[in-house]
Amino acid sequence: MQPFDFARAKDVDNALAAGAKQGAKFVAGGTNVVDLMKCNVEQPAHLVDINGLAFGAIEAVNGGIRIGALARMSDVAAHPLVQDRAPAISQALLLSASPQLRNAASIGGNLMQRTRCTYFRELTWTPCNKRNPGSGCSALDGENRMHAILGTSEHCIATHPSDLAVAVAALDAVLTLRGPAGERQVPVLDFHLLPGATPQREHALKHGELITSVFIPDAPHARRSSYLKVRDRASYEFALASAAVGLELDGGTIRSARVAMGGVGTKPWRAKAAEQALVGQRPSTDLFHRAADAELKAARGHGQNDFKIELAKRTLVRALTDLAGGAA
Ligand SMILES: Cc1cc2nc3c(=O)[nH]c(=O)nc-3n(C[C@H](O)[C@H](O)[C@H](O)COP(=O)(O)OP(=O)(O)OC[C@H]3O[C@@H](n4cnc5c(N)ncnc54)[C@H](O)[C@@H]3O)c2cc1C
Ligand code: SF4
Repeated sequence: MQPFDFARAKDVDNALAAGAKQGAKFVAGGTNVVDLMKCNVEQPAHLVDINGLAFGAIEAVNGGIRIGALARMSDVAAHPLVQDRAPAISQALLLSASPQLRNAASIGGNLMQRTRCTYFRELTWTPCNKRNPGSGCSALDGENRMHAILGTSEHCIATHPSDLAVAVAALDAVLTLRGPAGERQVPVLDFHLLPGATPQREHALKHGELITSVFIPDAPHARRSSYLKVRDRASYEFALASAAVGLELDGGTIRSARVAMGGVGTKPWRAKAAEQALVGQRPSTDLFHRAADAELKAARGHGQNDFKIELAKRTLVRALTDLAGGAA
């Protein structure tokens, strides 16, 4: 680990001033950034502890729920507002990491966590365009069983690892960001970036900007939503494929649908083609298969991860079938 200095921010102005310094990085739960510092992937010169800021509330606001960026994963998962109005978020959190990690880790940090691609975290410094732009991508012809099949580029095929990000992408969440120039709102769908030719650019946050909160709009499809995660072992494991789904049913017809997928995309993958296939139709197994086929048409495997194309389809069909219940 490289030497760094450490400061505890007393208030937002203090955090923004410290965070604006060259080489500064914020730390919340530290469960991702400290890991990456230990293997020298992250080498901040200044670590700014933001845990003293008042961004921990989970509250009902006009039109939805506002979750403070420093709220802990376990507190959000257990909160009645989240369980009632956006169960997919609670379920996604409870299927993430371990109880100890969920007690320590924050919502903002979760959305900002970096990929688990082993080459990215590799101590022997194998080529990796995300860690060392222009060096190449070791996963393209290497170990890529866990890698993405949607949104990939010839420069990077790493998955986005967050379960929460998939649930909030399905439910049209909006992030509030605060920087030296003031506050701005960014839909979570625009927050995470596709790798393209610049996989080192992962999100829309500017240097020194803070995520202060996440807004979840209230909607019938959010209240009837769920999260299904398929992984190699039953707990403490990242997704091979996952689906966050929300359905509003009206007299046996799907009035609105929200679908996002995890474990398969280079960013939390909003499945608009699947949604289009579902809306206005009566729920049925055939329909769910057609929706999954429509979304996965664009998927591309890289050898070891070819199986994810079929797995993602089955995950989506099962998530929709379970959610539609007797309606299907
Ligand atoms: C063994 C293990 C298993 C895991 N399994 C899963 C899993 O199954 N599913 C899953 O989703 N996650 C999983 N995780 C990841 C875990 O959920 C994240 O490490 C955690 O959510 C990060 O939150 P944190 O508060 O600790 O972030 P930190 O490590 O403190 O920060 C992470 C990044 O976010 C930035 N940051 C933090 N807060 C803010 C803010 N408010 N504004 C701007 N930037 C900010 C930091 O600067 C840093 O770059 C796992 C982690 C481990 C170690
Ligand atoms: S997939 Fe992305 S993170 Fe992994 S080695 Fe390739 S460039 Fe690096």
